[in-house]
Amino acid sequence: MASTESPAGGLKVGIVGAGVAGLAAAIALRRIGHEVEIFERSEFKNENGAAVSIPPNGGRILKRWGFDPVASGGIENIQVRRPKGDSLEPMAPTLSFSNVEELYGDKWFFYHRVDMHRHLREMAEAAGAVIQLGKRVDDVDIDSGEITLKDGTKVQKDLVIIADGQHDRINAKVTGVEIPMKRSGQTAYRCLIPMDDILADEETSFFFKNQPPGFWAPALPAKGVMAVTYPCRNNTILNVLAVHRKLGQHASSEEDIVIDDWNFPATHEDLERVLDGFHPAVKKMFLKSPEVKVYTQMKRDPLSKMTKGKVVLIGDASHPMLLTHAQGVSSSIEDAAALEVFLKDVPASEGGVSAAPSEKLLQRLQEFEAFRLPRLSATQILTDPVVPGPQAAANYAKQEAEIRKYYSGPLPPTGSMPHSPPICQFFFAYDVRKDALEFLETGAPNYKPTETQPEASAPAKAPTEPTPEKPAPSSSTPIKDTAAAAASSVQSKIAALEKRVAGL
Ligand SMILES: Cc1cc2nc3c(=O)[nH]c(=O)nc-3n(C[C@H](O)[C@H](O)[C@H](O)COP(=O)(O)OP(=O)(O)OC[C@H]3O[C@@H](n4cnc5c(N)ncnc54)[C@H](O)[C@@H]3O)c2cc1C
Repeated sequence: MASTESPAGGLKVGIVGAGVAGLAAAIALRRIGHEVEIFERSEFKNENGAAVSIPPNGGRILKRWGFDPVASGGIENIQVRRPKGDSLEPMAPTLSFSNVEELYGDKWFFYHRVDMHRHLREMAEAAGAVIQLGKRVDDVDIDSGEITLKDGTKVQKDLVIIADGQHDRINAKVTGVEIPMKRSGQTAYRCLIPMDDILADEETSFFFKNQPPGFWAPALPAKGVMAVTYPCRNNTILNVLAVHRKLGQHASSEEDIVIDDWNFPATHEDLERVLDGFHPAVKKMFLKSPEVKVYTQMKRDPLSKMTKGKVVLIGDASHPMLLTHAQGVSSSIEDAAALEVFLKDVPASEGGVSAAPSEKLLQRLQEFEAFRLPRLSATQILTDPVVPGPQAAANYAKQEAEIRKYYSGPLPPTGSMPHSPPICQFFFAYDVRKDALEFLETGAPNYKPTETQPEASAPAKAPTEPTPEKPAPSSSTPIKDTAAAAASSVQSKIAALEKRVAGL
């Protein structure tokens, strides 16, 4: 991929971490002509991870950059089925996402993280980013932009992007305060099951035979256990995440260990205990997995800052989030897309990397923070699920009050359920590039893209859910109409904005 829009003498940028956020930032910055060198501690010899879900707000950015969903084994999410874990009767109506592209401008894909990550890496390298593997960063000097590697090497840059994931420590230097990760109360068991094994067994094949791909999520709410499954890698693997709210085998008390390694082994017996009370066919299917992994889902309060000196935080280093609305990966990609807008015409420091950062760079980093932080904080808080029950209404109100400390734009009505139309509209219709261009031009957040949102003060109401017989278009007509109308004007508006901003 060629660099398309070079500022004269692009910035020399160092990126800490070649995860999704770091690679996305590398692609974005090469597109606008900056020099990029990534320092990644891993050798990527045994890449792991399970599946990731990328809804339209992340997907449309990848598409613009030339990411090929088919080459990455992407599977479209067409429906969400939510049976009771024991009887397998529907607990909630099936939701259809067959028209997600029509509504939100792009498809919703599932990938194996390894496939998606590999493609991003190829794209970053093809665009001219240098990726240094096996190079752990031990420290970054915020003011000078000096990166210190574990082997003692020091490298100085005009700008250092911190993308080293949720265990990042440099954020405390940016904000001036340590904000620890804390337990979410959820422990997640993970497995990957060959789809052929499921389909070859008549006791389990009926779960997926002749069904469009999508989420299949059996739950036992009374036991605090919810399983989320979806296919990846060209529909050859079923990804399973069995999450329990009541602290489980690997986190039985607050004193118990926190497992924050994506590859930590658990046993089939552990999984069987978690699945106590589930239908035998569900247990049989999940226990087909060759391996079981476990991790403690952690969360962190929003940070007060994303940038200081020559440093900017993105991805999980800045805003780790829970899985509820599938925004972890997409919000990292959005960060990169926003950097593509804000750093477009920022030249390298005249005195070289050892010089102080230019006024223009500092200003643009501040603008990036002012643009991204409110929405990211709202997203982090919204993805922390409110547990149903007698306290739910009060807890939803508390959640909204918390969001309002950071974000004044429109929100889905209080209490909107995951996957409901207002939630989808809030997350999936969001066009970060369009908003970033408008912010840069006007210096103010633009909430217009979400003007089709129901009013933030609207009373909570149940999501409109299509049944399998009655698919989404009819039940979601108001959103369809407004979203389609918005989508048709968005492209011409973006083109006009890009022209104007290019002249800034
Ligand atoms: C191995 C792995 C597996 C994952 N599996 C899943 C999954 O199955 N499902 C899911 O939803 N999410 C998964 N995630 C998390 C998901 O990728 C992130 O939440 C999201 O993509 C945001 O990405 P990020 O780049 O900010 O952070 P990450 O994806 O965590 O990437 C951070 C990168 O920085 C590197 N790094 C860390 N410290 C240093 C250092 N000091 N110096 C240099 N490099 C450093 C890490 O090796 C990693 O490559 C996984 C993450 C990892 C690292």
